[in-house]
Amino acid sequence: MLCRCPAFEFRLPRMTVFFMTTTPDSEQTPQPVRETWKYCPRCGNAPQQIGENPFQCEACGHRHFFGPVSAVAGIITDAAGRILVLIRNRDPGRGLFGIPGGFCDPGETAEQSLAREIREEVGLEATAMKYLGSFPNEYVYRGAILPVTDLFFTAEVSSTQGICLQQEEICDYQFCAPQDLQLEQFAFQSNRRALELFLEQTSATMG
Ligand SMILES: [Zn+2]
Repeated sequence: MLCRCPAFEFRLPRMTVFFMTTTPDSEQTPQPVRETWKYCPRCGNAPQQIGENPFQCEACGHRHFFGPVSAVAGIITDAAGRILVLIRNRDPGRGLFGIPGGFCDPGETAEQSLAREIREEVGLEATAMKYLGSFPNEYVYRGAILPVTDLFFTAEVSSTQGICLQQEEICDYQFCAPQDLQLEQFAFQSNRRALELFLEQTSATMG
């Protein structure tokens, strides 16, 4: 649950405010996440170079690599071959289209992450999960730009009955015939690229 706490904005130095408030993305100029690390998380030292990758602390020797995190997403088709498209209910890309997915949790396989995300977001059990491909993505959240590797899978659902949306994340959905997809309406370029790849492969198989 997000909440605002304006009192902090007056009492705390700007650096702390960055992490503690929930100012919408549109009110901040997003920065690569490596540039938001102004202090060493281990000893509190301010490094001579901010924005380097890896982060290196001259005082205690701590290093941190700002590598991409893993995320998964599923191109889910129903028995008629229509694709499940979600309408996003949160930023980034609120109101734009997406497909089910999210960040991998530590200890999960990508397939487990995707099955969990599909269950959480739409309440469906996906089957026939197959790896499609990966595309780099950038996730802009609370003023920080996080590098992400998106792993895409195709999956099927035998029944769409019992679909149940996680309303904090998704406000609506539709099953869309491949030829009717509005790719320009998707929030993330990586989703568009994956759907294009899926459409190419599907038409090659059919043609
Ligand atoms: Zn340090």
